[in-house]
Amino acid sequence: MSKPRVAILGLGIMGRGMAERLLSAGFPVSVYNRNREKAETLSNAGAFVADSPRQGSSRSEIVISMVADDAASRAIWLGEAGALAGVSEGSVLMESSTLSVGWVKELAALATARGCDFLDAPVTGTKPHAASGELFFMVGGSEAALGKAREVLTVLGREVLHLGPTGSGAFVKLVNNFVCGVQAASFAEALALVDASGLDREKCISILANSALASPLIKRMLASIAEEDFTPNFPLKLMTKDIGYAIVEAAAKGLPLQTAQPALDVFRHAVVEGLGDQDFSAVVKSFQKS
Ligand code: NAP
Repeated sequence: MSKPRVAILGLGIMGRGMAERLLSAGFPVSVYNRNREKAETLSNAGAFVADSPRQGSSRSEIVISMVADDAASRAIWLGEAGALAGVSEGSVLMESSTLSVGWVKELAALATARGCDFLDAPVTGTKPHAASGELFFMVGGSEAALGKAREVLTVLGREVLHLGPTGSGAFVKLVNNFVCGVQAASFAEALALVDASGLDREKCISILANSALASPLIKRMLASIAEEDFTPNFPLKLMTKDIGYAIVEAAAKGLPLQTAQPALDVFRHAVVEGLGDQDFSAVVKSFQKS
């Protein structure tokens, strides 16, 4: 059977790797990016470069959006040149961006009204995992919709986990990322405390890097710090967005997140200091300056 045609809408750090992965696996891929220059470079690899999300979705049975936030997702799907306007009945529409649960549910209803299936399928993993097909997909939506998309998802991910109805994937992703944000903010503060102590920084770091607190996330931060390389794998402004969405979601469930709010304040401060486009690990610089 021939492979389904796929649209990737949004070619940032993650979307680009995903598009390249599908192209190298032989899928017919249409791509769209707001800044068209980023899309043009994929035409050499065989992608059709769409002028609009609508043109991309009109050529595809599986339509995947991978953009920054709710506002970007709205811009991709809605409006005259938006992806929803171009979809064919029976297509699977998928949001892999990290978004609020409320918007994901609203979008799912719009997809259903167009006769399409919808999946919220955000991911863990970062730039190298997107490029090598090692993402972890957290999926909300129907089993039937997931069945239609599975061939594509298994090329993009090492794991595809169905969690339940629409919004389930978005919800768990926010739980995951608020804890990452809290860890990162508190580790940045810990390093500032080490610096204030006058103790040997490298010796202290060698202890922290080998203790129980050295999660994969903290190890990533330490690598960025050691190399003084804050090129974004996961931009700091997007971590800020995720903590904010998690707080709103938890409040709606009557559970104020007491550790997330101070972490959000730390990340917002870093954005104000101009660190938003750097890797999230640059949150350590925010403490160094103050
Ligand atoms: P990114 O590199 O910052 O790319 C963001 C993408 O969104 C770009 O294609 C950008 O287009 C587009 N965009 C932003 N605002 C838009 C708007 N108003 N209208 C249309 N397009 C818009 O982000 P990323 O790292 O690829 O992340 C994409 C999503 O995956 C985010 O939701 C993020 O939270 C999530 N995520 C990221 C990682 C990671 O490690 N990076 C891991 C897991 C999940 P332009 O190029 O034109 O600006």
